[in-house]
Amino acid sequence: MNKEQLKQKVCQAIADRKVDIKAMALAIWEEPELGYKETKTAQKVEAAFDKLGVEYRNKLALTGVKGRLKGGKGSKYSVAVIGELDAIICADHPSANDISGAAHCCGHNAQIANMMAVTMGLIDSGAMEYLAGDVVPFAVPAEEYVEITYRKRLIEEGKIKYVGGKPELIHRGEFDDIDMALQIHLTSVPKDRSNGFIEISTTSNGFIGKLIEYKGEAAHAAAAPHAGVNALNAAMMGMMGVHAIRETFQEKDYIRFHPIITQGGDLVNVIPSSVKMESYVRASNVPAMIDANERINRALKAGAMSVGATCEIKDLPGYLPLQNNPTLNELLQNNAQQLIGEENVWVAPHMTGSTDTGDLSHIMPVSHPWIGSVRGVLHGKDYEVFDEDMAYIRPAQMMACTIIDLLYNDAEQAEQMMANYQPLMTKEAYLEFLSDFDK
Ligand SMILES: [Zn+2]
Repeated sequence: MNKEQLKQKVCQAIADRKVDIKAMALAIWEEPELGYKETKTAQKVEAAFDKLGVEYRNKLALTGVKGRLKGGKGSKYSVAVIGELDAIICADHPSANDISGAAHCCGHNAQIANMMAVTMGLIDSGAMEYLAGDVVPFAVPAEEYVEITYRKRLIEEGKIKYVGGKPELIHRGEFDDIDMALQIHLTSVPKDRSNGFIEISTTSNGFIGKLIEYKGEAAHAAAAPHAGVNALNAAMMGMMGVHAIRETFQEKDYIRFHPIITQGGDLVNVIPSSVKMESYVRASNVPAMIDANERINRALKAGAMSVGATCEIKDLPGYLPLQNNPTLNELLQNNAQQLIGEENVWVAPHMTGSTDTGDLSHIMPVSHPWIGSVRGVLHGKDYEVFDEDMAYIRPAQMMACTIIDLLYNDAEQAEQMMANYQPLMTKEAYLEFLSDFDK
């Protein structure tokens, strides 16, 4: 069987599994779980692997599940297909969980469905027999960098070392037996467009994570405010201080600072003695991230000084900027064009959001395209998949075809790519960069 015939066979096998794939996406959509708590979602992945006869390891970084399909012509390279397990909090969404407020408004359920669709397609078609490398369907925890206070507690309890799932898995050596990785994220389609699309992603922002605490003095809010120190006023002054330096941020660096107050005081008739905040400082490149972070810290601290409070800031490793691999991008783009037509595929500009796939992209070739298949706003209450084929089936076909490109004919294409590849960081340099935050 030649390469094109093999691709056609796998794409047909994926299309034939449409019902199972969409059922998987829906089952996960209906039970959203937040990062490092995705136990039911992980069980759904395990059950699907069991049914397919795929061997796997589970509970990796608490909830991750990692399968492996062996290449019939050897295991020269391993290509991971990544699906993220976690949801976000979007309590206003009609499908949100009543208790946690979690909802899949980032479409990670579609990532898992696609990961499983690639697995099904490769198994059902018998394609692995022709490939000189392994395929690793890998369900990973905690891509959304949220509930930072809660995760800091997990870190203190020794259950994890990093807030984000992929840094944690890299630290634990779970990417040591993987050479390159593919994954998707869904994105919104403008209202005036009737069908979905595929955007090949180039770069996106990275960030530093922050826990901020202002400490003041409690006192009666009406009878004796002069005896207290108002931590909430300090926090507001701190945020105003950051606003005062926003004009110094340069467009080329795409700086973003968007704090939330997670604790704003205890009782309305007591001067707030403790105010807690979480934020990121995002930028398109590491030097800008570090520079903006230092200046933002200075402005935040000045807020405390203005009212005589104190300000403690804990900077945490966030995510590195995403740098997609040009060769993987090109292979995906060609396959996407074959599948859905050139007019529905294009290259995206820099994105200001962030993903921990950015970390992975610093140590191995990665491609992470955007799949236009959603109406409504990302992370918003009106987020909804409207083009199911584009969300659940097309990305899987595109990734499966790219895997065949890489691993067919004695993995010639993968070998060529790796011969010309220089990682932005070695794994050791990357882990050292993370541990520098503790110093
Ligand atoms: Zn996401």
